[in-house]
Amino acid sequence: MTYLIYRCDCGRVLYSKEGSKTKKCTCGKTLNVRKRRILKIAETADLAARAVQDMQEEIYGGTIFKTADQL
Ligand SMILES: [Zn+2]
Repeated sequence: MTYLIYRCDCGRVLYSKEGSKTKKCTCGKTLNVRKRRILKIAETADLAARAVQDMQEEIYGGTIFKTADQL
């Protein structure tokens, strides 16, 4: 399975399974996944979630909390 990582217009980084058509961002916007520019791909949901977290930290300067296993 391949997961696609992309950004919403609001700046949030999101991911979804390859083949998904749309994804609703927490900002309320429904994104057409096929039309987004893909920033990265990952092979598992776990890797995708981690990549998203890393990218959010880069964007927002590391203010996002970390889970206990990453401390
Ligand atoms: Zn959004």
